[in-house]
Amino acid sequence: MQEILKKTLSIVIPVFNEEKNISALYKSLLLEISKLEIFNYEIVFVNDGSTDHSLEEIKIISQNDSKVKYIDFSRNFGQQVAISAGIDYAKGDYIILMDADFQDPPELIPELVSLAEEGNDVVYAKRKSRKGESFLKKLTAKIFYRFLNLITNCKIPLDTGDFRIISRKVADILKQMPEQQKFLRGQIAWIGFRQKMIEYDRPVRTKGRSNYSYGKMMKFAIDGITSFSDFPLKFATFLGFFVSIIAFILMLWALYQRLIVKEYVQGWTSLILSVLFIGGIQLISIGIIGEYISRIAGNIRKRPLYIVNETNCEENKDEDKK
Ligand code: UDP
Ligand code: MG
Repeated sequence: MQEILKKTLSIVIPVFNEEKNISALYKSLLLEISKLEIFNYEIVFVNDGSTDHSLEEIKIISQNDSKVKYIDFSRNFGQQVAISAGIDYAKGDYIILMDADFQDPPELIPELVSLAEEGNDVVYAKRKSRKGESFLKKLTAKIFYRFLNLITNCKIPLDTGDFRIISRKVADILKQMPEQQKFLRGQIAWIGFRQKMIEYDRPVRTKGRSNYSYGKMMKFAIDGITSFSDFPLKFATFLGFFVSIIAFILMLWALYQRLIVKEYVQGWTSLILSVLFIGGIQLISIGIIGEYISRIAGNIRKRPLYIVNETNCEENKDEDKK
């Protein structure tokens, strides 16, 4: 009887080549969960096409603990999609989203849960500092989040990853957001409700290495911008006007030189420069439009967001994906 009244906490963990972290992570999660007596738990590992033994590690754990679930993707779909799949399958009243590499410290779980219990629908953990990450990564991340905030209406928390707890209400709304480009931290900010922040120092990755190349980070950044802002499109229009006005003024000046002053040089430098300048701006503008169109195209294809190879989660949570 007691059992039925308990709330359930789901922990969703995307996994890409984390074989060395999984069993240690599981142990420390159990330790933290044991502090939350009034909760049932469920740990959902989403294996995002790992090429190492991550899946085997997870399966060993799940054989001994039926509360450990796994979703094995048919290939690598990316961290954001992996988290989304975890949310699709998770059953908890609260869902914690965290990385597998201890960079999102499990010790924060009790605090996240107690703040959620106080009635916050989202409690996100902001990175006060980031250890062991390159200067360039930190700098580009800092600039990106500030730029993004400048050009969007919806306030996406600065210096915050996906480490957070969300309520069932927020999870259900997220599941209804069909876009292919997942930028969860933006989507969750967009949803609203009561959101609260806690701060922490982000430690170094314990084992293995970061799977985020600069290429992946770039794609992620452009996904974030195109999903939440039309500013680049407007900027392209602005550039067009700006260059046209300059060209018009130059034209007046050239006419004046030619007809009134009658002193003019027959240089091709100015000609070539303006051709290159306008050509460059046209290409940039087409490129910006292209980024949006490619995303529209992706959404129109309506392919499933991910393909599951095997899972020990009960089906039914996912009818709309099949
Ligand atoms: N991850 C994933 N799919 C990927 C890349 C990463 O599921 O294509 C997972 C990874 O296993 C980890 C989390 O996402 O649990 C964060 O990845 P990582 O530590 O490489 O990123 P960083 O912390 O360097 O930003
Ligand atoms: Mg990491």
